[in-house]
Amino acid sequence: MVEAGRRLYARAYVASNDGNISARLDDKRLLTTPKSVSKGFMTPDMMVVVDYDGKKLTGDRDASSELPMHLEIYRNRPDVNAVVHAHPPIATGFAVAGIPLTRAVLAEVVTTLGSIPIAEYGTPSTAELPEAVRKYIKAHDGMLLANHGAVTCCRTVMTAYYKMETIEHFAKISLVARLLGREHLFSRDEVEKLQGLRGMYGIAAPAPLCADPADIGSADQILCQVLEAPESPQRLVPDVGSALQQASRDGEIRLTYGELTALIADAVKNLRE
Ligand SMILES: [Zn+2]
Repeated sequence: MVEAGRRLYARAYVASNDGNISARLDDKRLLTTPKSVSKGFMTPDMMVVVDYDGKKLTGDRDASSELPMHLEIYRNRPDVNAVVHAHPPIATGFAVAGIPLTRAVLAEVVTTLGSIPIAEYGTPSTAELPEAVRKYIKAHDGMLLANHGAVTCCRTVMTAYYKMETIEHFAKISLVARLLGREHLFSRDEVEKLQGLRGMYGIAAPAPLCADPADIGSADQILCQVLEAPESPQRLVPDVGSALQQASRDGEIRLTYGELTALIADAVKNLRE
């Protein structure tokens, strides 16, 4: 936990005393990082032992005020032994913009995390935040927290930390691709092949992909992952915004044949829905 905290701070995934990490010790006790301490400069003696109701058992310091979010994750995920929460700036930018990281564009992300949704905003340190996380945690090992940051969980502290690295790296690449004006998405078939690799790498999938993304609707707790991956391969997702900017400059929109057919396909799909 000291090392994971050091890396969170070194990579600027947290500022000041932000962020928190916890890990199961046994079925009665958890170890968690202290509040009001920079996660880059923790020592093992600063850690706090709490029970699964959040009551402090041992430690000179107090546990983070975000502990209830961690407890909610452990309650819903018996397979999980560690939770990492941070505010990595690019992923948090997506969380502020309300843009989830749910497009199938990077093989390692599809294999390790799948879809990264945004949990609705909840006031930090209140019951709202655990409640928001509860909706998605059964089906996701990592999620953005609206207007706040991100949270990940896994079997060990370091693997939960690595999922946080993957989310921020994915957010950075997504930002660059969107600045460049387009993203090529994996087809549904490619995604299934990638998900099949999980077994080979020993990566447990928290949940299958939703057969029909419309099904999850307003479910109280989501039990499958929504990943944007079109049926047909090599579909483009053209950036309509840049085409329109172009239009305002010289009065015409230029689209490739692929972009035009993708736009029409999207329009038809939207009409059907
Ligand atoms: Zn936070």
